[in-house]
Amino acid sequence: MSERVQKNSSYLNAKSTVGTVTRVKDVSPTSGMCPLCIRDCPFLCEVGLSTFRGREALYPEPVQFGHSTASALKDFRLDWSDFNIQSSVFKAEGIEADPDKAMFQNVNVESKIAGIPLKIPILTGAFGSTEVARLNWEGLAIGAALSGVIITIGENVCGMDSEAKITNGKLTHSAELKRRVEAFRKFWDGKYGDIAVQTNVEDQRLGVDIYALSKLEVNIIERKWGQGAKSIGS
Ligand code: SF4
Repeated sequence: MSERVQKNSSYLNAKSTVGTVTRVKDVSPTSGMCPLCIRDCPFLCEVGLSTFRGREALYPEPVQFGHSTASALKDFRLDWSDFNIQSSVFKAEGIEADPDKAMFQNVNVESKIAGIPLKIPILTGAFGSTEVARLNWEGLAIGAALSGVIITIGENVCGMDSEAKITNGKLTHSAELKRRVEAFRKFWDGKYGDIAVQTNVEDQRLGVDIYALSKLEVNIIERKWGQGAKSIGS
């Protein structure tokens, strides 16, 4: 318990995402600060960085922008590694217990989400208007199409598209959204998986969902509330 709390609290003011460290490791479990916070401290912890750089300290190192992903340093005390599913206990039967048949080529994990067949049971998180999503889209979309899963274009892609055309407050063209949908469709077999477009409230006001459905013939719209994946404390 104490070791875990200690490890956690040291994260509070020493984050690899922004390059901060604390002067000593036995930080206070409550504040995450060194027990002796000294005037002449030569280290840059979160407190010091925030003091000098303000809101910039909320985001990962600028030099990594567009070429990195970052995770929040959360610890929920319970994670997937705490689960061990013993399927046979629940009488779940797989392939016949025959060494000549129980080979990975014969594995079948096809599934369905809302009636859409999937080769493997995956629906990705949303890759939105971030630079890292834009730069890596081709690989993500082609990989998803070939794998037969659902990939999701995230929020605000059209709002960030400098080539978007907006008439009377409604979207009539988005080169970036079109590029993303087409990259998936080029390698899609038309049966397994699909591409979804996520829309937040601004996207809806802009008519992104109508544009995606009517002009790009997208089949799935995902409504978005709130914030979940970012390393900005949300
Ligand atoms: S400023 Fe204070 S809390 Fe931050 S590293 Fe230095 S001594 Fe520790």
